[in-house]
Amino acid sequence: MYEHDVLIIGGGLAGLRAAVEVTRAGVDVAVISKVHPVRSHSNAAQGGINAPLTDRGDDWQGHAYDTIKGSDFLADQDAVEIMSQEAGEAVLELERMGVIFSRGEDGKLGTRAFGGQKVARTFFVGAITGSAILHVLFEQSLKLGLNVYEEWFVTKLIMEDGVCRGVVALDIKTGEMHTIKAKAVIMAAGGAGRVFEPSTNALICTGDGLALAYRVGVPMMDMEMIQYHPTTLARTGILMSEAARGEGAHLLNAEGERFMQKYAPDYMELASRDVVSRAEQTEINEGRGFDGNVLLDLTHLGREFIEHRLGYLQEVSVEFLGIDMAEKPVPVQPGMHYIMGGIKTTVDGATNVPGLYAAGECANVSVHGANRLGANSLLDTVVFGRRSAVHALDYIKGVGPASRAEEDLAPEKARLQALLDRPPGERIATVRDDMARGITKGIGVNRDQASMEGALENLVNIKSRLPGVSVENKGKVFNTDLMFALELEFMVDCADTIVAGALARKESRGAHYRTDMTERDDENWLKHTLVYKDDAQEHGTRVETSPVTITQWEPVKRVY
Ligand SMILES: Cc1cc2nc3c(=O)[nH]c(=O)nc-3n(C[C@H](O)[C@H](O)[C@H](O)COP(=O)(O)OP(=O)(O)OC[C@H]3O[C@@H](n4cnc5c(N)ncnc54)[C@H](O)[C@@H]3O)c2cc1C
Repeated sequence: MYEHDVLIIGGGLAGLRAAVEVTRAGVDVAVISKVHPVRSHSNAAQGGINAPLTDRGDDWQGHAYDTIKGSDFLADQDAVEIMSQEAGEAVLELERMGVIFSRGEDGKLGTRAFGGQKVARTFFVGAITGSAILHVLFEQSLKLGLNVYEEWFVTKLIMEDGVCRGVVALDIKTGEMHTIKAKAVIMAAGGAGRVFEPSTNALICTGDGLALAYRVGVPMMDMEMIQYHPTTLARTGILMSEAARGEGAHLLNAEGERFMQKYAPDYMELASRDVVSRAEQTEINEGRGFDGNVLLDLTHLGREFIEHRLGYLQEVSVEFLGIDMAEKPVPVQPGMHYIMGGIKTTVDGATNVPGLYAAGECANVSVHGANRLGANSLLDTVVFGRRSAVHALDYIKGVGPASRAEEDLAPEKARLQALLDRPPGERIATVRDDMARGITKGIGVNRDQASMEGALENLVNIKSRLPGVSVENKGKVFNTDLMFALELEFMVDCADTIVAGALARKESRGAHYRTDMTERDDENWLKHTLVYKDDAQEHGTRVETSPVTITQWEPVKRVY
């Protein structure tokens, strides 16, 4: 049995930013992560992080409004105001900690343009922004004395009288299970991209944090809001960063036309992601694509510029499709990229369960609403990672030691043993693939009642097959097969909430585009969907709604 004052689940940007804050306060804290922290998905973020810096005439209101418009007015405006107001300091602080941001000719921190924003306010480190920030935060927190449970897998949250008091976890290296007690737990376990196939997300993005919180009664908010990124490489699903369009790349259809002219004459390729993905899908569906793709054209930018500013994209294009972007356009298509929905929290990261906080992609504050702007996620992780730590530090002052944490260990051990003891049955990968393809088909760029019901039907079938899934590897040391089985169960919980949210929302808003209900309906649907776990219901879910917080920007029609 282990014990800390604060336990953070996740060593990505949200978890490590929270860790820096807690270690600075001199409080005993640990991060637990199923992979080495710098292998978290945050490491893959390429494009950058937004901040409205006043030294170049930008202001927080501009960033806040672009974010709210991008969200199709579903974001809570009080939360967005906080994020935009704290952004400048958050990014400058990263710089002071040691992140070497790219600079412009004038020696000042450089910016690039990103979608849905009229001002170039995205700060970046070449095409490795996430990696650069992650390494610096990891260094800083180790220097300050952070404890790390590296390659430990959380299987369950420990609850005592309705309060979260720690976790049960599997030490992947030994196969032993342990409890870790804590006065407060901060969930920073990242997104759920692998519920979809294909996805730009790493294989570890399996929604564990969302499912762990959902299982102890926390509502999942706006889970139907799934971001399809407009430019993922044909056949591979690899992300081609928005930085390409930010630096001037064009999108072309089979007629050689810059088709965004028809859909977003003002912003063109830099309209918000949902708008661009939908435009591409329309071109493809109406026969003006190339085998399910459109073209991303950088040829006019010149080889030197491409290799200097977008070198990583050039590498990916050459390596995977053999296409030199300086010579030829590359085929791209919309691909699942990010989940706007997640664990409902306050602006201080608190959930409805005392002692349980959440931040980063697994949380929904809500600053992204129905569509996230590019480069706002990294910002979300550092701003709300820090805030959840500040609030948790305050909360633990009034909390004594947990008493019954040990009681959860034996049943959890037995549950995992039962998984190992199953007779040979279906392979995990087969069931996972069937689930993910069913969800992607039903909850795509476009959806309608029939497609969503199809996704539900598929999910019912998947759930009936779950008990027959077997874990082939019976060993103790590094049993990734056992982890995949646990992850599959987490993903199925996430899929439940995504389908329930999608079927509930009877309008089109942002990423939730219904071809059978194409209009936004502010009168009835300017609200969040909340999905609760409820085993008394037919599909195990119960949907409620809650109002959207409007401070100063009344919803208007969204035009780009
Ligand atoms: C390819 C790609 C490029 C992107 N580019 C950008 C960009 O340029 N700008 C931007 O703003 N956003 C970008 N995003 C989105 C952004 O990177 C993520 O939303 C953000 O980094 C998520 O950070 P996080 O800390 O919430 O989670 P993650 O970085 O995903 O970390 C999750 C952590 O939780 C741990 N964990 C999960 N489950 C368990 C468990 N059961 N037990 C123990 N530990 C667990 C993992 O080990 C990991 O340490 C990009 C995303 C992708 C996929």
